[in-house]
Amino acid sequence: MKKPKITKATLFEVRLPLKEPFTTGFGTLWDRDTLLVRLEDESGIIGWGEAALVKDPIYLEEWLGGGWLFITNYLFPIINNQEITSQEFADKIKHLRGNNIAKFAVETALWSIEAQLANKPVWQLLGGTRTKIQSGASISIQENIDKTLEKVEKALDRGLTRIKLKIKPGLEYQLVKAVREKFPEVMLMADANSSYTLADVDKLKALDEFNLIMIEQPLAYDDIIDHAKLAKQIKTPICLDESIRSFEDARKAIELKACKIINVKPARVASLYEVQKINQLAKKTGIQLWCGGMLESDIGLIANLASASLSEFTLPADISNWTTYFDSTFTNINDRYNQGIFTLDDAIGLDLKVDEEWLENKTIRKLKI
Ligand code: MG
Repeated sequence: MKKPKITKATLFEVRLPLKEPFTTGFGTLWDRDTLLVRLEDESGIIGWGEAALVKDPIYLEEWLGGGWLFITNYLFPIINNQEITSQEFADKIKHLRGNNIAKFAVETALWSIEAQLANKPVWQLLGGTRTKIQSGASISIQENIDKTLEKVEKALDRGLTRIKLKIKPGLEYQLVKAVREKFPEVMLMADANSSYTLADVDKLKALDEFNLIMIEQPLAYDDIIDHAKLAKQIKTPICLDESIRSFEDARKAIELKACKIINVKPARVASLYEVQKINQLAKKTGIQLWCGGMLESDIGLIANLASASLSEFTLPADISNWTTYFDSTFTNINDRYNQGIFTLDDAIGLDLKVDEEWLENKTIRKLKI
């Protein structure tokens, strides 16, 4: 296969307006600042990638300002004027610790160029097999329970089949109970975003009666061991999210029986090659996977869809963000979306049309090399 030769690299910080504030256990966002990478190869092929970072280091250590410096100081110099594949890039940056979300942006922009050179969409290059990707809904913490019920109803009307409720200590039992009573059959789960400790085991145990498909990341964002202890005390299957930043984390969590399900956020594990390895591990161990989201824009969606097409990603993905939260889209990716389902075909991503003029208006800063 022909290697991409990168002749131009641009980093954008863009501010995308949200339809309404997004609140979780760790704070509220009013608009979405994100980083977009645009690479161009010598034949004029353009590849896009996204570092869906947040302004402050409140989700993980990684944050937008740091990501900007990491990409411009460390990653762009590695690809600038180089003939380089995504695999070579992933190998070359192995010695650089952390900064996974920033690494992912540049790597996936290279995948995007490779896909165009090979005339095969990223999901096929990655080895995906699923062509219909079902989306679930993530319902952020609302002012009251009635508002939550309203949101759940709307999400189900839009074709989203799995409902994830954000919870926090003191705001779990009544909330989950109300939703379960009104929607007895719905595929329901709770996401705690690390807001509990082992001292709260009774609160979490109380949720066992609601037949949740999983409870996501109840304990510390970097913990595996306490989750293994909790797993022995509750019936609801535990899903790890924040704790899984690599194949090695997944291996350790599975070995310790800390989870039965993993929410793979592709960018958090730095590389689509790492996503492939986690998929193989899940196949071997019988762990279920699903693709989470980090409020990515249209660009980040392409890599997430590719991940969700892999064999072990059997549960609905969080990929309807832009219809729920963003004010507008700036690509044609949504042409493949209908009633909660993305359809992957032989051209998805290859025919990506980015409205660069619209994006220019949302750009806060830009750096071109
Ligand atoms: Mg989560």
